[in-house]
Amino acid sequence: MPVTAHPAFDKAAEYLRVKLVKIDLDPNTLRVDLNAVKRAINRNTILVVGSAPNYPHGVVDDIEGLSQLLELVDPRHNAPIGRIGLHVDSCLGGFVLPWALREGHYGVPTFDFGVTRVTSISADTHKYGFAPKGTSVLLFRDKSIREHMFFVATDWPGGVYASPSLAGSRPGALLACTWAVMLYNGDEGYRNSALKIMNTQQALVKGIQDNEHVTGLRVLGLSTSPVVAFTFNSSTKFDIFKVNDAMARRHWHLDALQQPSAYVPPPPPPPCCY
Ligand SMILES: *Cc1c(COP(=O)(O)O)cnc(C)c1O
Repeated sequence: MPVTAHPAFDKAAEYLRVKLVKIDLDPNTLRVDLNAVKRAINRNTILVVGSAPNYPHGVVDDIEGLSQLLELVDPRHNAPIGRIGLHVDSCLGGFVLPWALREGHYGVPTFDFGVTRVTSISADTHKYGFAPKGTSVLLFRDKSIREHMFFVATDWPGGVYASPSLAGSRPGALLACTWAVMLYNGDEGYRNSALKIMNTQQALVKGIQDNEHVTGLRVLGLSTSPVVAFTFNSSTKFDIFKVNDAMARRHWHLDALQQPSAYVPPPPPPPCCY
C-alpha cells in the first residue's frame, strides 16, 4: 500500500499478522509510484491497496494503473478474479467522488468496479455520507470474496451463531439512522453537496496557486478530492505550523501533516494530467 494509505491497514495487518509493504509516492503527483509497487509484488502478495482519495493529501491513486499492473504480473487465466486483490479505499471519497466523476470536470479519475481488477471498495457513510459514525460500507466485486467475511459457529448450545463482520451483534439504531440519512439526501442531495464541496476545493487550490509568489504557499500533489494539502515552498523559511496556529485563531480547523524530513516534493504539475 502507498505510505499515505490509512493506518486502519496497519491495524488490520497487525491483527491478521499480514506483512504490510509501504510504497513511496511519485514526487510530483504524490500518487503511489507504480514501478515501486511492481517491484514489491512477489508470490506472497495477496492484496494491493490504492486510496480514492488518501487522507493526508486528498490525492486519488492511479487505480487504472494499479489494475493494469496486476493484469501484467497476475494474469487471471479463467478465474473471474486474480490471485491478488485490488482494494480501493474510498472511505473518505466514496460519497463525493462518484458525483464529481459523473459531472466530469473535476479531474477525478475512475476508481470503481469499472476498473477491471478492482475487487473491493470501502466507502464511509459517516464522512461525506453525512450519517452518524458506527456504520460503513464494504463492497465486493464477487460474492466468492464476500463469503469470507461471514463467521458461523454451528455447534454452540445457544444455537447457530453467525456474524458478517468483526463486530458481533450490530447497532440497529445506527443502521436505521444511516438509511434515513441516505434516503433524505438521495442522489440529488449527494450531487448538490459534492458540487459545492468540489467547487470549494477548486477555489482553494486556485487561491493557493495564484498567490504562491506572495505567500510562498504551494499545494501538495494532485488533489482531485475535497482535501487540499499545502505547505511552504522550499525557499520559505517560515514554520508552516505557525500558519496552522494563526488559522486556528480565525476558527479554521487545519490538519497538521508530517512528511519524512528528507522528502520535499517539487511543485505539482497543473491539474490536467489524467
Ligand atoms: C476515515 C478513513 C478511514 C477509516 O477510518 P475510521 O477511523 O474507521 O473512520 C479509512 N481510510 C481513509 C482514507 C479514511 O479517511
